[in-house]
Amino acid sequence: MSKTVAIVGAGASGLVAAIVAAKRGARVKVYEKNSKIGKKILATGNGRCNVTNQTIKTSNYHGSNPKFVNIAIYRFNTQVCKNFFSEIGIELVEGQEGRLYPKSLHSSSVVNLLTYECEMLGVEFFLDTKVEAIEADIRGFALHVGDGKLFSSSVLIATGGLAMPTLGASASGYEFAKSFGHTVVSTFASLVQLECNENLKEISGVKIQGNIEVLSDKRAVASTQGDILFTNYGLSGSAILDVSRAVGKILQNADEVDINIDLFSEYSKEQLKTILSKRAKNSNSKSLSLWLDGFINPKLAKFLAKKTDIKNADDLNTKEIVRLVYMLKNFKLKAVGTRGFKSAEVTAGGVNTDEVNPKTFESKLQSGLYFSGEVLDIDADCGGYNLHWAWASGYSVGISI
Ligand SMILES: Cc1cc2nc3c(=O)[nH]c(=O)nc-3n(C[C@H](O)[C@H](O)[C@H](O)COP(=O)(O)OP(=O)(O)OC[C@H]3O[C@@H](n4cnc5c(N)ncnc54)[C@H](O)[C@@H]3O)c2cc1C
Repeated sequence: MSKTVAIVGAGASGLVAAIVAAKRGARVKVYEKNSKIGKKILATGNGRCNVTNQTIKTSNYHGSNPKFVNIAIYRFNTQVCKNFFSEIGIELVEGQEGRLYPKSLHSSSVVNLLTYECEMLGVEFFLDTKVEAIEADIRGFALHVGDGKLFSSSVLIATGGLAMPTLGASASGYEFAKSFGHTVVSTFASLVQLECNENLKEISGVKIQGNIEVLSDKRAVASTQGDILFTNYGLSGSAILDVSRAVGKILQNADEVDINIDLFSEYSKEQLKTILSKRAKNSNSKSLSLWLDGFINPKLAKFLAKKTDIKNADDLNTKEIVRLVYMLKNFKLKAVGTRGFKSAEVTAGGVNTDEVNPKTFESKLQSGLYFSGEVLDIDADCGGYNLHWAWASGYSVGISI
């Protein structure tokens, strides 16, 4: 008799695990609490689904033990990933920074073809079906669903993390893990916008290309360059998402985090000083705000001018210009929070990877119990690395279960 595999979660990881396990002859049943398969996949990559990246490295992954990913991402590398999707009918095309998308540029293609492949292989889906609890049973496992129990010889917990509850995110996976004695590394939101203590309403909507540093004890612990968007609540944009993990981690034990933004990262201090000194010669009694306008976004010019005691650009002497250069290259803010799981793309923290076999993804504490995807204490950078982790870990389970 073929082995029965119960997969909790019809997300990225559960679907790949279902396909691979079914291909190997397992009888696969997938339980999903949403009414739709792959709801989160549909929302990925702004509806285009950034499936993977041309370059997948251990350094793209984070958690208490990032090396845990090595076997899975070596086994299911970018080429294997491309072949897997090509075999089910999805060709990938490259966008910026090595990001790979379905050629249709529609995330629905990914969900449609993963679903079709599952159905062709006889995978059974149970939608609107929330698994409430899982316990070991003489037949393997009993899954509590509604008032009844379902039985399976093995179980994969592919319930994802806490990011975006509107897409189905829940803490179920952590609860299931704990009920089998697993520990869960404390979770926090990552790839998320930041809230600042300063009122930034006046510059809300201003987008710059700048450099951002996250400081801990006055030392830069993360930095990146890219889009920075000022908002009513604080900061958004790709550069902010990139450093948000570092901020979230510090905020676990602190009330605020120092942020330093270089508004003119394209110029060195000396270059900026030369440019401003030249402009100062032609100040024509302009207010500082108007003098800055034209060189910097008008809203930002007004906002920054208010922060100085210089009213008129005619008053700019060498000392004042040096002060101004410092201010433009060190625009200081304090992050007091992230926008949290409701806005985050991913969850940092999760099921302790020390308690899971990195080859098979089977629990070291309970035979027949498996974990894959975001529920584990692994999260990744923006750029297709999180979905890659979901596929790669699901694939490893599929060939092992
Ligand atoms: C807006 C957004 C955009 C993103 N864009 C990208 C991107 O372009 N590229 C990228 O690499 N990553 C992206 N990510 C991250 C990526 O989507 C996730 O890391 C990935 O989907 C995780 O896969 P998973 O299978 O572990 O979990 P999920 O895809 O979240 O699937 C878990 C499933 O389990 C179900 N479930 C949970 N609890 C239960 C229960 N008790 N019973 C039954 N079912 C349950 C959930 O409803 C869900 O369908 C994005 C995330 C978000 C929120």
